[in-house]
Amino acid sequence: MIDFEALFNISYGLYIVSSGDAKRGNGFISNTVFQISAEPAKFAISCNKDNYTYEFIKEYKNFSVSVLGTKTSSEIFSTFGYKSGKNINKFEGKDIEYGQTGVPIVMDYAIATMEFTLEESYDIGTHTIFIGKLITSKLTNIEDIAMTYSYYRKERKALAPKNAPTYINKEKIMKKESKTTARKYKCDICGYIYDDLDESIEFANLPEDWTCPLCGAEKSDFTEI
Ligand code: FE
Repeated sequence: MIDFEALFNISYGLYIVSSGDAKRGNGFISNTVFQISAEPAKFAISCNKDNYTYEFIKEYKNFSVSVLGTKTSSEIFSTFGYKSGKNINKFEGKDIEYGQTGVPIVMDYAIATMEFTLEESYDIGTHTIFIGKLITSKLTNIEDIAMTYSYYRKERKALAPKNAPTYINKEKIMKKESKTTARKYKCDICGYIYDDLDESIEFANLPEDWTCPLCGAEKSDFTEI
């Protein structure tokens, strides 16, 4: 059998992976960024082929990684994790720097940044693994520490977006857990779970102008699960 809950025990960080140049570009939230060799320093990322950023990495042969800190705002996750660059310019209003390769690097809430040139790609079905050689890196905020995926799940009660390699269909798990009568509601936009048991106020009693703490969706965008 496969117990999906077991998979949550693998440690990940949270990052914004970006690609492009000063004129065109995009970025997305990733939790699969890992160093695979020291000399030269090479890193791998996994990118869903449906991601808009995927096209940029293939075209520009560069990508940047912004390591997100624990103070990262919900708006950043909403914009880079749950919206598509096909519909909006994710970089608008953001603090963007450009690397040696011209790659955009998101500085908002980043505790460290890295820039890579693309070396190899491996097609693994739904995703492609991109391997990059490290060109530049810098520490950008020593006051915060890296946001881990487990912290994000616990503190923000959020689920991985559908395109994430670690996406899990939560409905499958919920069916197993339905022994309580307390109500839970899920944001249709981002998957955020509002659990009456964990909150001081029941969902039904929240004001109508209440919005999803993760993605800003309306109360009416929540469905009871
Ligand atoms: Fe939401």
